[in-house]
Amino acid sequence: MGVKETVKALSVIGIGEIYITGKVKVGGNVKSYPNKRQVLRALFDSYKDCTKCDLHKSRRQVVFGDGNPDSPVVFVGEAPGEEEDIQGKPFVGRAGRYLNEQLKRIGMPRETVYITNVNKCRPPGNRKPNYIEMQACLPYLRKELSIINPKVICCLGATAAEGILGKKIQITKMRGQLFPYPYNPSVKVFLTFHPAFILRNLNAEGEFIEDLIKLKEIVKGGL
Ligand code: SF4
Repeated sequence: MGVKETVKALSVIGIGEIYITGKVKVGGNVKSYPNKRQVLRALFDSYKDCTKCDLHKSRRQVVFGDGNPDSPVVFVGEAPGEEEDIQGKPFVGRAGRYLNEQLKRIGMPRETVYITNVNKCRPPGNRKPNYIEMQACLPYLRKELSIINPKVICCLGATAAEGILGKKIQITKMRGQLFPYPYNPSVKVFLTFHPAFILRNLNAEGEFIEDLIKLKEIVKGGL
């Protein structure tokens, strides 16, 4: 499929603008940047002052994704917490440090992967983002994912999975499984627990590590 046809096909599913690296431009819809980091920076600049949902009222700052933009796997959580809101980076609080430990333990260190959230602003009191807030923010995540174009999107917890897959998720039953990404079926979506859940339920730690090891095998092409 050529660039024009791709832009037309994406517009049918609601993606009116795509970002690609290189020097290709079609009309006003495709922007050209020399590398993914710069494309991501341009995307972030486009919504760092966003007020599309009520979460902007209590945030300190918008928290964009972080990590290796060439990673074959992108981890997606639900929203920033207090520490993330202060530092402006995703997964830097207690749950993030725990995730880092487990990623290091399985030989997939954090600096080699990319991590982001469905919602880019902290919900007050660390509550879950609601449906309206998620729908307002999901277009940013979809653009972020289209730029990185990973092999696998790993959803951390049911809220992130519901945002990405657009359906009700029972994480205890659906964890460890692969699903097609609705906006690009060649990208797979893998589900596991949120690390904050594991910190509250250490009896599920073994399943979480089992999932991460399976994810690593999928990324390597072994499964
Ligand atoms: S959560 Fe997303 S949609 Fe809502 S204000 Fe923040 S950036 Fe905008």
